[in-house]
Amino acid sequence: MNPEAEVAITEQEIQELVKNQRQYFRSNATLPVEFRIEQLEKFRDLIHRYEDELYAAIDKDFGKSKYHTQLTEIFPLFEELEIAIKNVRKWVKPRKVSTNLLNQPGKSYIVPEPLGVTLVIGAWNFPYNLSLVPVIGSMVAGNTTILKPSELPAETSRVMAKLINENFDPNYLRVVEGAIPETTALLNQRFDKIFFTGSPQVGRIVNQAAAPHLTNVTLELGGKNPALFAEDAAVDVGVKRLIWSKFVNSGQLCLAPDYVLVHKSIKDRVLERMVHEIKKHNYSVENKNFVRIINARNFDRVAALIDPDKVYYGGETNREERIIQPTVMHNVSVDDAVMQDEVFGPIIAVLEYETLDEAFEIIKSFEKPLAGYLFSNDKTTKQRFLSEIPFGSGAINDAVMQITNSNLPFGGVGNSGMGRYHGEYSFECFSHLKSILEKANFFESDLKYYGHSDTQMKWIRALS
Ligand code: NAD
Repeated sequence: MNPEAEVAITEQEIQELVKNQRQYFRSNATLPVEFRIEQLEKFRDLIHRYEDELYAAIDKDFGKSKYHTQLTEIFPLFEELEIAIKNVRKWVKPRKVSTNLLNQPGKSYIVPEPLGVTLVIGAWNFPYNLSLVPVIGSMVAGNTTILKPSELPAETSRVMAKLINENFDPNYLRVVEGAIPETTALLNQRFDKIFFTGSPQVGRIVNQAAAPHLTNVTLELGGKNPALFAEDAAVDVGVKRLIWSKFVNSGQLCLAPDYVLVHKSIKDRVLERMVHEIKKHNYSVENKNFVRIINARNFDRVAALIDPDKVYYGGETNREERIIQPTVMHNVSVDDAVMQDEVFGPIIAVLEYETLDEAFEIIKSFEKPLAGYLFSNDKTTKQRFLSEIPFGSGAINDAVMQITNSNLPFGGVGNSGMGRYHGEYSFECFSHLKSILEKANFFESDLKYYGHSDTQMKWIRALS
């Protein structure tokens, strides 16, 4: 929450806000496609107008550079806005499907309808991306929206509140800043959709709060994402991609590879290349693109996972600056502290394996992760990895980059979440797909009214 905020919003004000948004939604103001496009274009123009403030705020919060913020936060926002504006006319149209014989003469189609008043709760690690991309989905689908950004990056929360609250009708789109008390007050209200990004622990709280109202929930959570280097892996290019995806945002990325399973025969080479890539790309404090750990609590949590006896490279920390040097740990076993929970920081744990079965067993001993990565070109290994290992999304011979393709749905499975978004999936995520059968009136068979003989039942079965 913005520490300079004069007063935190009261429960009564939240109640009033939700009531007003519901009234506004019921007025049908958000339904016309022209309205949606107008609001999305306005949003795009505002992001352009506030761009410098957005960069300054995130730099202040955790030392994230303009270049880094453009790449991982602002460009994806523009991309999602462009896709939404370009396609919304097509998406809102009824989608025709074929009609079974029993319902002839007639036609069948699906009408997407907005859900109503939605609540988006954001996480801190990519504060603009993870708060505003779901908001775009809610807008394009024709809902009203309340956004509660994470309170940890206080400046980015403040600038999002300013951008939205000074420019949009609060009955349509509003930012409510705050921490647990404000989020709890919001969750006490009845929403038509809650979209949450954060930890599985808080995901459970959100799901429980939604249950009494039977509110539709999307949970974007985390987990321990495996990266598996098979015996045949293309080590040089694979490690180059792995190291970028692990240390971008200092490992504070839900999709980041959490631990690496490396076949015994290539382990030494993989470790050497990891160090080579870390040094080459200057993943260090001197690099102005180096991102700090968000706060002291997370610094302490991540730093405690470093076992000095198992450090292969890195391991230095600076609590005052909230800096943890990119760290590679080797000879790691599943019992080590670094393997107990999601790392969510710049430490990569390397485990050695001999057989694929052994590696798969390790992966499957954890909850279903948000992402899975395989480095191999072997047909059988790829096929086994894809069919035997459950995970939300993934990549072969790369990591994290699947998120940049808006044609791919983004979401978790089991403990890493439920529901999906991005591109057209965002539109669907915030819509109900209403199924319609429309009958013609010139003919009505008597079959279903009087179909009580075996022959008639056979006909009904055949026509169904
Ligand atoms: P978090 O669960 O601590 O916080 C997320 C949001 O929930 C914040 O807005 C916070 O204010 C609110 N919150 C926290 N405690 C609450 C409580 N007791 N009651 C109600 N609301 C509460 O998560 P985080 O620390 O912001 O993010 C880290 C986690 O999020 C990691 O597990 C990571 O993997 C996951 N994550 C997932 C994705 C994804 O897209 N799947 C993206 C980023 C982060």
